[in-house]
Amino acid sequence: MAFAPSAVTSNGGRIEPQSGTAFVLEQGQLLKVIDLEGEQVADLIAFNRLDHGEWLSSGRTIDYANTIYLTSGHILYSNRSRPMFTILKDDVGRHDFLLTPCSRQTFEIIYKQEGYHPSCLENLEKGLANYGIKSDLIPTTFNIFMNVKVGEDGTLSIDPPLSKAGDEITLRAEMALVVGLTACSAEQSNNYRFKAIGYEIVGSHESIGS
Ligand SMILES: [Zn+2]
Repeated sequence: MAFAPSAVTSNGGRIEPQSGTAFVLEQGQLLKVIDLEGEQVADLIAFNRLDHGEWLSSGRTIDYANTIYLTSGHILYSNRSRPMFTILKDDVGRHDFLLTPCSRQTFEIIYKQEGYHPSCLENLEKGLANYGIKSDLIPTTFNIFMNVKVGEDGTLSIDPPLSKAGDEITLRAEMALVVGLTACSAEQSNNYRFKAIGYEIVGSHESIGS
């Protein structure tokens, strides 16, 4: 690995309500996800940039962390049991890794809403298509700020996010990644108001394999 000091850069953007984006991260870069107004979920997914058959795995992560509530210090693993992210800082401490990104069918099956509805899956598909990643590859997302509780009988309840305006989570990329990120489109997950999500990418751009 080159020892030359590389320029530290910071970029990112704003994900408008009910939309999404995709971008690459280098190993070691930090991704900050910011709830700009509070009570807004952001679905995150990641793939190994050099091999899309390696993806962020809810099952592996929950298994190794031995909890469904992931926060600072936890590692998010791939389906091949390799670290993809480490959570460095977390203002909220409540995120979901059980549920898939909301899709058009989510609104039909659960909420009985007919016709078109924006969804995280559609927004992830659009963003990830730019990197040649197809919809069927998109697994369970890490749903940042989503507040899912599990009752004693196993029933799930989706409550308003605990995040307040300006709350952040910071994740370090542990390999070169393609990342998809949304401002979630589901009414119940976001306390019935759709807000924008901010994100920042911090760290050096040291090109790996490209
Ligand atoms: Zn969603």
